[in-house]
Amino acid sequence: MHEISLCLSTIELIEQQARQHGARRVTAVWLEIGALSCIEEHALRFSFASASRRTLAEGCQLHLSVQPARAWCWDCSASIVIERHNEACPHCGSHVLRIESGESLRLKQLEVE
Ligand SMILES: [Zn+2]
Ligand SMILES: [Zn+2]
Repeated sequence: MHEISLCLSTIELIEQQARQHGARRVTAVWLEIGALSCIEEHALRFSFASASRRTLAEGCQLHLSVQPARAWCWDCSASIVIERHNEACPHCGSHVLRIESGESLRLKQLEVE
């Protein structure tokens, strides 16, 4: 369960940005979950709700989308998209991949008032 610590740092970032815009309240948040981040959506929603308590983001709408992961295949030098861990390169079947994105949680957009 790393969702709690991810949420705490995300809330920190959200509050920082909200303050920069002189917001009194955050009404909606859009987060992108990397396909390889091992983040579970229900756990994330639950953690977000508790981490946002008594912050500017308390009670805001949470929009989640899953972002596919990008990787580089060492064997055939292709840039590929993967959805899960241990997936093989669709071109050559190799498992020797370098993950380039899709392992993290990203703050995409904020709506404030
Ligand atoms: Zn994983
Ligand atoms: Zn390949």
